[in-house]
Amino acid sequence: MGGTRATAPGVFDANAVKRDFPILEERVHGRRLVWLDNAATTQKPQAVIDRLSYYYEHENSNIHRAAHALAARATDAYEAARDKVRRFMNAPSSKNIIFVRGATEGINLVAQSWGWRNIVAGDEIVITWLEHHANIVPWQQLCSEKGCRLRVAPVNDRGEIILEEYEKLLGPKTRLVSFTQVSNALGSITPAREMVEIAHRYGATVHVDGAQAVSHMPVDVQLLGADFYSFSGHKVFGPTGIGVVYGTTEILEDMPPWQGGGNMIADVTFEKTTYGPPPSRFEAGTGNIADAVGLGAALDYLSGLGLANVQRYEHELLTYAEEKLSRVPGLRIIGTAREKAGVISFILDGQRTEEMGGVLDQEGIAVRSGHHCAQPILRRFGLEATVRASLAPYNTSEDIDALAEALHRIQAGRP
Ligand code: PLP
Repeated sequence: MGGTRATAPGVFDANAVKRDFPILEERVHGRRLVWLDNAATTQKPQAVIDRLSYYYEHENSNIHRAAHALAARATDAYEAARDKVRRFMNAPSSKNIIFVRGATEGINLVAQSWGWRNIVAGDEIVITWLEHHANIVPWQQLCSEKGCRLRVAPVNDRGEIILEEYEKLLGPKTRLVSFTQVSNALGSITPAREMVEIAHRYGATVHVDGAQAVSHMPVDVQLLGADFYSFSGHKVFGPTGIGVVYGTTEILEDMPPWQGGGNMIADVTFEKTTYGPPPSRFEAGTGNIADAVGLGAALDYLSGLGLANVQRYEHELLTYAEEKLSRVPGLRIIGTAREKAGVISFILDGQRTEEMGGVLDQEGIAVRSGHHCAQPILRRFGLEATVRASLAPYNTSEDIDALAEALHRIQAGRP
């Protein structure tokens, strides 16, 4: 269940990382697959695929209930995965880690459990212009149900949060601040620690959307100081359908359950149900056991590469890519934040983004073209869509060269 050791101290070998991901040997339209759609989802290393098979071959059972050997194996594997998540985020306890389907479900859980208990009419929730729809819509829904107000911190022309403007939005009515650590549409890294600290000064609870951060940089929730932190397994080389919401002990213990059912109770009579403690209180029904275990394997894999190594490597690759792409005539990069993760959003003069996506696909190059579920930030730049190339540690300079050459051909009218 191992996987190739892809790094030696001080050296990052992206080609060795690539060899750990069998799908990257696929051919698409007769061409080598160049996967540059990592912000949408990441590919899975053999170690994760093997771990899932091992689970189904040797451990599969429902957890916690039945007193037999496989139930014990499945429970151990599931709880071991929770502990791997705890370590990965540096959470104080595995009781702070709730398994959900993904970042979207994590945010909805916070909005509907914490939000319903703590938000009243007249309160304010602060988000930013950089948010993915998953970090806009649940708050809008809560506001329309509770009569609270959604306020939005602006960005400058580079796509960076304007901290002074952000702070101006905060005040005695601010109950919650929720913002992304990395923009999926532009790649901007927000000054998350500072934003959390400012929000806490105003007495607000803070949720950080880590969906785009966890695969690109070390995350330490205690250092960050956030009250909640959500992410999706599939964006961090793990399976789909599994994600995490972290919450501090104090807050989780005070939160009502979100969904009711099995697993989340202490005792049930027809008159009254008492609930289990966190995290089980928030995990009603049979969870996604296998994929939680797969996520644990993905985090082990990523930790084996070293997040600091990944961050350094991707930064070099991003610089290389931005330089290469900016030589394509008529190409404009949208989002030029000084702190940026591996996302390059761009438009090309005279070319329609969907068509560009289609032409690139014919060359085996997978990028995303469209609004990236972040319409407000694209509209902030006067756009409805961009092409987005997003990086992972298995991408190489050859991948970037392939993209740049294809764009030169598109621009020259000879795809
Ligand atoms: N937040 C951000 C910043 C994202 O990029 C995404 C997905 O692209 C999400 C939240 C939602 O993630 P999921 O669809 O996996 O729940």
